Amino acid sequence: MVYEFVIVGAGAYGCAVAYHLAKSGHSVRVLEAGEIAAEASGGGGKRGVRGNRRDLRELPLISEAYQLWPSLAEELGAPTGYVRTGGVNLIEKESVGMRGGMVAAEAIRATQTDLGVPTEFWTGEKLRERLPQASTAIQGALYAPLDGVAGHQDTTLAYAAAARRSGAEITERDPVVRIFDRGSGARHAVETAHSGLVEASQAILIASNATARSLAAENFGCRLPTWTAYPQAVWLRPENVFQCPYLVGHDSRTLSVKVDNEGVIQLSGGWRGRFDPATDSGTPVEGNVAGSIRELEATFPSLGSLTRLGVDTSRAESGSVDQLPIIDTIPGTQGVVVATGWSGHGWALLPAMSAHIADFLATGRRPRQIDHTAIERLRG
Ligand SMILES: Cc1cc2nc3c(=O)[nH]c(=O)nc-3n(C[C@H](O)[C@H](O)[C@H](O)COP(=O)(O)OP(=O)(O)OC[C@H]3O[C@@H](n4cnc5c(N)ncnc54)[C@H](O)[C@@H]3O)c2cc1C
Repeated sequence: MVYEFVIVGAGAYGCAVAYHLAKSGHSVRVLEAGEIAAEASGGGGKRGVRGNRRDLRELPLISEAYQLWPSLAEELGAPTGYVRTGGVNLIEKESVGMRGGMVAAEAIRATQTDLGVPTEFWTGEKLRERLPQASTAIQGALYAPLDGVAGHQDTTLAYAAAARRSGAEITERDPVVRIFDRGSGARHAVETAHSGLVEASQAILIASNATARSLAAENFGCRLPTWTAYPQAVWLRPENVFQCPYLVGHDSRTLSVKVDNEGVIQLSGGWRGRFDPATDSGTPVEGNVAGSIRELEATFPSLGSLTRLGVDTSRAESGSVDQLPIIDTIPGTQGVVVATGWSGHGWALLPAMSAHIADFLATGRRPRQIDHTAIERLRG
């Protein structure tokens, strides 16, 4: 079996890159260890599409993604759950080290706006007019009206279905166990548990997120500066109705809040589970669940009692040493590209970033929009 491109992993990135390549007429095979959206791109709730307080080097890309999200469902022919809610980042302290607080708000507002993420400053009073349950300790906020949320599981399934309609083959429950780079001019190949050898005449993309590190090390001796984390999501029902139409983040607390149409709160924003070797997955840490709820209560003190509806820490995500993704040809190979190190915020960029990765694979040239993701930046 020979395809132009073979992709390891059918998460959001594997499926979306397959879609772009197949739509441009390339032959593509995606191999997935579990099922589509088995890891970070799957599960309940929604993911934030956030430009507010993002690494400034990613703002041109999020600005591009802002333009693509609203019409993505129409393009893919299936719902994505995207809603442009606007996003507020709450400021409680005068200064937060050298990276935040009221003293930094105007500089951040102006720079974000210049780089494609329109941002307003709200005083504490203006914020409480819009978010009446916010604590009086909040002194101000940065508001990015183009931020929003999207359904990760639905969107990933929509990309997979659209990729298949365009001719891509996606095989589930068939883990890739070895990857071969045969040098320029020859074919590259992967070996899977069930399909045997699958060859790629142009390139292989490792879009397996958390396992990219071990695949790169075991097959090519490449040590990527990445690691695996198990982000925590907690669902709560408040006693009192929470009037919160926005995606909410915080300048100095570990807090990210979304409220769905039924009034259920989804809490995330930096808390983690712990790896459990018995299940080979992430398991909740009670202190971290309680810690994230404490941050919510401190920020919105009038929600009343909070009933826990669920906690998920099972979905592996890759972190990178500078919190930016790594998208590059693995050193020493001719045609094995890796896309990993999303650092808990890879989702928001998906429609823009996946098109650039497909372009990188198809042309062999790095699009300037993803210059900041080269491995070179992390080497002396
Ligand atoms: C709880 C949580 C909350 C998050 N919140 C946000 C947010 O609000 N905003 C945001 O922008 N981002 C967020 N993220 C991050 C975002 O979801 C991820 O960056 C993104 O989904 C990564 O997509 P991916 O396709 O690279 O990885 P994944 O979805 O992890 O896909 C990788 C796939 O590869 C498969 N695989 C692994 N090894 C192999 C192998 N050997 N052979 C074949 N297949 C293999 C896996 O089974 C998996 O399906 C969050 C992540 C989590 C977990």
